Amino acid sequence: MRGLNESWQDRFAETPGVLKSAWHQQTVVPVLDFEIGGSEFITVAGPCSVETEAQLLATAHSVRRSGARILRGGAFKPRTSPYSFQGLGLEGLKLLDRARQETGLAIVTEVMSETDIDLVAEYADILQIGSRNMENDSLIVAAARSGRPMLLKRGLVATVADLFRAAQIALDNGNSNIILCERGIRTFETAMRNTFDAASIALIKQISHLPVIADPSHATGRRDLVPAAARIGVAAGADGLIVEVHPDPDTAWSDGDQSLDFEQFDAMMLSLAPWIALREGEMRAGGACDLDAAEVA
Ligand code: PEP
Ligand code: MN
Repeated sequence: MRGLNESWQDRFAETPGVLKSAWHQQTVVPVLDFEIGGSEFITVAGPCSVETEAQLLATAHSVRRSGARILRGGAFKPRTSPYSFQGLGLEGLKLLDRARQETGLAIVTEVMSETDIDLVAEYADILQIGSRNMENDSLIVAAARSGRPMLLKRGLVATVADLFRAAQIALDNGNSNIILCERGIRTFETAMRNTFDAASIALIKQISHLPVIADPSHATGRRDLVPAAARIGVAAGADGLIVEVHPDPDTAWSDGDQSLDFEQFDAMMLSLAPWIALREGEMRAGGACDLDAAEVA
């Protein structure tokens, strides 16, 4: 079998549907008029939370000019503190819809509860399953059955096998339009918000047919480290990035410390361009940036 040696087959034997096979080397997820996991590197950008119409629309226009294809923004927010801002809910979804109409960007937003799935699926092009819900099987089943593509974020303490298990549940419920996301994991290192497991991106590209994107914002928790972590994500073989951007990060209602302002995002995209061009060369040539596993074995 091309691209997957026996030991990986054994290690991930519980989730065979997620692994590459002789007949399936890469899943391509269609979104509006483009694809994730195809030959184009896709950048998702936007605020952690949808706050106001002015905040969201200004961000949408700015990130689009800088090269983003998808707007992110939470309308339903999982928060560390129950007393923090929980999101605008339906009002936030309507603002995201407005931003899509104005800019042509696709929309990804988190769904936290099974009871919200129909509503969120009505407005979003991609349903985000957040890290805190990666092991919420009933939410994943319901999201999968909505038929919308899913962005599945790796859990805070989830192994790659755990992430694959969540993806397998979506596959088993008829949805193969799954994008995985490495957003950092908890380790003994506390200098940064999380530990960016960039090698997991290389591993996922080597053994799975699902596209994977890197989240340098949650992975580091610090805006000064976001461009470097983004570059590492591209070099590791990601199919895209998801980056938090805010008009005035210091006043953001959530995750301001890790959000870039418009200028910083634009500068990052410019500095990433040669790296993305290299990555897209590999994507056009057929996927993973590394040697074929069969050649390495
Ligand atoms: C987010 O994308 O803002 C978010 C809450 O991410 P995660 O689930 O990875 O913490
Ligand atoms: Mn966030």
